[in-house]
Amino acid sequence: MLANYTRSAQALSDLLKREGVEDAQVLNAIAQIPRHIFIDDVLKHKAYENTALPIGQGQTISQPYIVARMTELLRLAGACNKILEIGTGSGYQTAILAKTFTKVYSVERIKALQWQAKRRLQQLDLYNVTMKHGDGWQGWQSQAPFDGIIVTAAASKVPQDLLAQLADGGVLLAPIGESDQKLIMVIRKGDSFTEHVIAPVRFVPLVPGDIE
Ligand code: SAH
Repeated sequence: MLANYTRSAQALSDLLKREGVEDAQVLNAIAQIPRHIFIDDVLKHKAYENTALPIGQGQTISQPYIVARMTELLRLAGACNKILEIGTGSGYQTAILAKTFTKVYSVERIKALQWQAKRRLQQLDLYNVTMKHGDGWQGWQSQAPFDGIIVTAAASKVPQDLLAQLADGGVLLAPIGESDQKLIMVIRKGDSFTEHVIAPVRFVPLVPGDIE
């Protein structure tokens, strides 16, 4: 199956389309990116299932549906160019973003995960991604402003530094809450920020403060 991943990735993309993902560019990215290279050997046989999977260090690779849906939502809200991702993890969401947007910045607090993700993206010849080992609560001030910010770990509240790094007209997508999490979207217009609740979700926590 893995040598022949293109068929599996296409089937996953078709499944996500049936589940309601409409954006052709996002569906194409899902069909093109080999998800199995982002997953440990023992779980590779599940790589093209629509499920989250453990990636070590107590973290998970997100469910393909949520990866596709969040990417689509960024595009629907008008983000097109420069994206900041918080929580690189396996790097799979990063790769999908790299296929969909002009330039991607990604921050991860666990160094081992960040290095591994960096190697995987190089292996896929995705050179429009810049990664940083750091604390995502602080965003990436020196590269701001961003057209879109996507947080792939659940924060207890919307990180204010991230809002400040949104471009005018920019959009932030983040899971907020602890046991009861909601995906929220915040749109910036000048100095005003409008929040929309999108859907209930379940992510690992956005760890406060320190880095490993
Ligand atoms: N999109 C990733 C999701 C990984 S899980 C994927 O599909 O693989 C969330 C990631 O957020 C984990 O790798 C975790 O280490 C990272 N994370 C948690 N708190 C963080 C913080 N404060 N700053 C940066 N990264 C953080």
